[in-house]
Amino acid sequence: MDLQGAMQRWQELDAEHHLHPFTTHHELAGRGTRVIERGEGCYVWEADGHKLLDGMAGLWCVQVGYGRERLARIAYEQLKKLSYYNNFFQCASVPTIELSAKLAEILPAGMKRVFFASSGSEANDTVIKSVWYYWNLMGKPEKKQFISRKLGYHGVGVGSASLTGMSFMHGMFDLPLPRFHHIMNPYWWGEAEDGETEEQIGQRAAQALEDKILELGPENVAAFVAEPIQGAGGVIIPPDNYWPAVQAICRKYDVLLVADEVICGFGRTGAWWGSETYGIQPDILAMAKGLSSGYVPISAVAFGPRVGDAIFAGEKEYAHGVTYAGHPVAAAVSLENIRIMEEEGLATRAAGPIGTYWRDVLEQTFKDHPMVGQVRTKGLLACLELSEDRAKRKRFDEQREVGSTCRNFSVRNGLVMRAVRDGMILSPPLIITEAQIDEIAAKAKKSIDQTMAAIGFKG
Ligand code: PLP
Repeated sequence: MDLQGAMQRWQELDAEHHLHPFTTHHELAGRGTRVIERGEGCYVWEADGHKLLDGMAGLWCVQVGYGRERLARIAYEQLKKLSYYNNFFQCASVPTIELSAKLAEILPAGMKRVFFASSGSEANDTVIKSVWYYWNLMGKPEKKQFISRKLGYHGVGVGSASLTGMSFMHGMFDLPLPRFHHIMNPYWWGEAEDGETEEQIGQRAAQALEDKILELGPENVAAFVAEPIQGAGGVIIPPDNYWPAVQAICRKYDVLLVADEVICGFGRTGAWWGSETYGIQPDILAMAKGLSSGYVPISAVAFGPRVGDAIFAGEKEYAHGVTYAGHPVAAAVSLENIRIMEEEGLATRAAGPIGTYWRDVLEQTFKDHPMVGQVRTKGLLACLELSEDRAKRKRFDEQREVGSTCRNFSVRNGLVMRAVRDGMILSPPLIITEAQIDEIAAKAKKSIDQTMAAIGFKG
């Protein structure tokens, strides 16, 4: 069978049998699934041979790039030695213990206890239960309300989806659960009032936290959960005054601060943790994705001394955990992934010349583009906000599907970009080179130009 024939067969089987995440299935069947078959470095190939520069590192996770021999070998060796064992009933596997110790070394100061799971959603459900467990231990059972942010993404479990601030994920599933509250985020492009500066919206968004705490009663508020930079919400980069103000408010009202580092962790913002980039001192930190560079499913929750020591000393059983928590193969691969990141300086690479190049090339390419309202970058993250009127920060009518049109052109042009509303999102592998950044910029520009022509936008 030729490549086209093989692709077609997989598309037919996929439409018939495979239900996808976040999909309206009959529409997907009409359009045809893109079947990705292999990857190498920053590139992936579709089953028909079409080559794509992966500007999204999979789903913000393939930090070290695809096809690393060392990671394949470590997985193979561990599969032969001990393919599975659990960490229940007084047991632990060697790579799992080693990984927890390694994480304690690279985590923000004082975070030395780690609980493993398999996905970011499970990590955040672990966060929720651990926070409730903690306040029960502390004799404050009324302190149970969670505050998180609109457009925050924290996963799909009933708890983590309740933390998530995306209403389209709630309606059809009768969520959020009671006890979950969503406040505004410091999204200047999308939310600022006329004349409001980035600083001012940073202040207003922090004030929204204090207002919500006071409305609920500080004695009832358990924790505030947020991503250092909101990723899936559209790479919403906070102004510098936001996080210090949030930190101070959490301290003032004895509200635990939880950093969801599922995207920002492992070098994305130019340090191991987004918390370092923004000077956040979280009580709890959730991680996944970059922990294994997406090679195997694994996630973790790290605890600072306050909650970690309380769980450690807790008289009542911490009755929580999943079969694959701290899976030895996933732990071995993650350890090797961290070693590679250390050897190649990937954790801080985005803060160096490559991050500067990323910012400069994207700004230069798009600053005067008639359809790009704002170019936001931090570390190796970016959002190009497509706009009908830059000065008024005006979005295109949703019906025109401008973002998804642009994304489709981009894929045809050999670049994976993601559309969040009309924001074109980029988050490439951390090994990206200057030449590949040039390629991203050129392909993104071509795609945006084609989108302009396709929708008849003159600028
Ligand atoms: N938290 C954040 C910040 C995420 O971006 C994601 C996924 O994109 C999650 C949690 C959920 O992770 P998972 O899809 O592995 O359940």
